[in-house]
Amino acid sequence: MRPYWMEHFGNASSIHHEGQAARKAIDLARETVARFFGCRDAEVVFNSGGTEGDNTAIAGLIRAGDHLITTSIEHSAVLRAADKAAQLGAQVTFVAPQKNGLIDPKAIRKALRPETRPDNARRILISVMLANNETGVLQPVEEIGEIAAEYGAYFHIDAVQGAGKVPFDVQRFGCHLCSISAHKMHGPKGVGAMYVRRGTPVEPLLLGGSHERRQRAGTQNVAGIVGLGKAAELAMRSLEDGTMERVAGLRDRLETGLLGIAGTDVNGAGTPRAANTTNIHFEQLEGEALVIALDLKGVAVSGGSACHSGSTEPSHVLMAMGLGRNAALASLRFSLLKTVTDADVDDVLRVVPEAVERLRALAPETVLSRQ
Ligand code: PLP
Repeated sequence: MRPYWMEHFGNASSIHHEGQAARKAIDLARETVARFFGCRDAEVVFNSGGTEGDNTAIAGLIRAGDHLITTSIEHSAVLRAADKAAQLGAQVTFVAPQKNGLIDPKAIRKALRPETRPDNARRILISVMLANNETGVLQPVEEIGEIAAEYGAYFHIDAVQGAGKVPFDVQRFGCHLCSISAHKMHGPKGVGAMYVRRGTPVEPLLLGGSHERRQRAGTQNVAGIVGLGKAAELAMRSLEDGTMERVAGLRDRLETGLLGIAGTDVNGAGTPRAANTTNIHFEQLEGEALVIALDLKGVAVSGGSACHSGSTEPSHVLMAMGLGRNAALASLRFSLLKTVTDADVDDVLRVVPEAVERLRALAPETVLSRQ
């Protein structure tokens, strides 16, 4: 990315030499991201990240009278866009997960009521995430893609959290639209991409110049796009060279160690999950207090999603899975980087049991009475 901040300042839309150098860098990144998605270069639209991709998929496709089927465990970028679509006159169905956090494809099929079958006047869009950002639970997108095809529905996957962690192929997923974000695969923040299957009638959110084949106006973020391209290249490599298996192994060791603490369990246990995530419920504990205690020891964890941290609201994902308010507030998400080492896991396993014991000893009555 550095040369595109420090040396090459060209605008990729300019025809002069500097502009064309920037354009070449974007073309190269587009080729890599297309390989990552498993699509044509022309089906890749660079944007500002997952929120924009999710918003574009929904607001760009769904009109008044259309039917949007999504789930109650999506990221707020989908949920809020779905609320907005409902306000504008679309029919919106939120499918609830099973207790383990998995969406049952049969529930999606049930939501596809015959009276809302698509025709020329009415569209159906199914929007389901690949991996949940709080539990890591991987959703059965291929089966849902088959159902979408059977009903002639459009299918969007929010793959922000799953991209780079599981083998990826939009053809196999059977989707029309797929959103990814660079910063969830060790890339820079504020840049992402969307796969738009050729012929999908999605309207752009941003209007203006003819950038990105008129699908996303605005001068391209050259350094960011170059960073996304590199992140996609490294993600493909990590999926092939055993890195993600190594991360999954360390995640499992971390999880086993944490489960050694009395009164703990895993949210989303027994499901296929992204390699890097575990979500642990600590009985008789305030999650927020543990986040702060661990931060002081150099361990960065989150309660719920990072986008909502700072709020003391319980996670909508865990509540949708049937956890009570207090159990949801007593749950923390541990995410592992690709660079995680055995020593990192040892450190965390040394620090967490002590912190949990201390916090439980400090305020047993208050916490107990709130469980
Ligand atoms: N979707 C999911 C599942 C996410 O985890 C996130 C970010 O945390 C987003 C969408 C939003 O992506 P961005 O932060 O790139 O806008």
